[in-house]
Amino acid sequence: MKHLPILGVVMASLLGVAIVLSSAVDSAEGKPLEAGPSLHWYKGNMHTHSHWSDGDDYLEMIATWYDDHDYDFLVFTDHNVLANKERWVDVDKTKGGKPAYEKLKAKFPDWIEERTQEEVLQVRLRTFAEVSEKLARADEFLLIQGEEISDQFHRHPIHMNVHNVPELLTPRGGESVREVIQNNVDAVRALRERTGEPMFVHLNHPNFGYAVTAEDLFPIVGEKFFEVYNGHPGVHNSGDGQHASTERIWDIVLTKRLAELDLPVMYGLAVDDGHNYHKIPSRASEPGRGWVMVLANELTPATLVEAMEDGKFYSSSGVTLKRVESSSRELSVDVDVVGDETYTIEFIGTRKGYNPEGKPVVGKDGDELPATLVYDGTIGEVLETVEGPKATYTFHGNEIYVRARITSSMAHPNPSELGDPQRAWIQPVVGPGKPQ
Ligand SMILES: [Zn+2]
Ligand SMILES: [Zn+2]
Repeated sequence: MKHLPILGVVMASLLGVAIVLSSAVDSAEGKPLEAGPSLHWYKGNMHTHSHWSDGDDYLEMIATWYDDHDYDFLVFTDHNVLANKERWVDVDKTKGGKPAYEKLKAKFPDWIEERTQEEVLQVRLRTFAEVSEKLARADEFLLIQGEEISDQFHRHPIHMNVHNVPELLTPRGGESVREVIQNNVDAVRALRERTGEPMFVHLNHPNFGYAVTAEDLFPIVGEKFFEVYNGHPGVHNSGDGQHASTERIWDIVLTKRLAELDLPVMYGLAVDDGHNYHKIPSRASEPGRGWVMVLANELTPATLVEAMEDGKFYSSSGVTLKRVESSSRELSVDVDVVGDETYTIEFIGTRKGYNPEGKPVVGKDGDELPATLVYDGTIGEVLETVEGPKATYTFHGNEIYVRARITSSMAHPNPSELGDPQRAWIQPVVGPGKPQ
């Protein structure tokens, strides 16, 4: 028996897969993503609007909604503003109007600050610090200050959420979509460097206004996250006949970064982008549609940022996982089964030898559209499909990356797009086929 490992290495060398064995040994030390005595799954939403910008409710009411729905953390991300100053608003002019005010007053009767100015009823918007002090509870419910940096290039909206931001970041602009993204990423990295505060930025809803293509996104240095699922009904997660879906964008981005640019993976987030909190469900932009589950030892901004930068999370629009385990040899998934739901687990990736050529999308008048190029099926292939709550994908040796997507038999109860199922998205694992 003791000769077998040597034989194995010799055989592997002959087959040209020695790298698989050596890196598998390294990553065998990596722990699976699974709750334990010192590790917990924390559920959070990282895209939230309030009366501080274009949401229709007050910070404290929104925080209460998420707390009541078993979330562990919430990031407030209003457009180009931090809730850190004194601001009075006319009650009737807020998006939520009188009904939102009445609900606030009923919920927090001794907390509301109001006044009448020239016969107009005004209320003071409580700051992030005040709301956090009142509603956050150590290790149970965490509020994080964020911002949706809302930039643009010509008519393309380019929005990026920064999490745990200590001061306002103004949109940086740029001469192309790609440059706008890169400039804002660089600004966040510089702020992190200067303040020492753990924070990160993510690219929001690439298909909102079909503003950001895979080609804009894949060369960005320092960008580790983007929204593969956004709950706002106007952001086209599924794309259309001329525009790639966000999942297709993800596969192109992963392939190009890993195989052609030697850049790290980009992780996919699911978020709400909630604006409307008063009629749930409806076909507006409501809370509760998409979230992340982060595995960390405690509930603080620093531990969450660190865990997510390490890829220790998955994204969900309804499917919960018990365990994810990955190494350079395999990727396995174990779903936390609900009732008699059934699950389809797809392992998706790109293999060495894929076709790197993309063709432009041409409009009716023969002009090239500013859309993600069309690549063939060798990018983002479904490598294996398993029906059931548990599956393991074993690498063959030529995979550049593999990720997994789990689809429930249950429809989403309040979907972003009609007909959406409930899903979970497992973060990509770099495979042995990545060029060294
Ligand atoms: Zn946005
Ligand atoms: Zn938003």
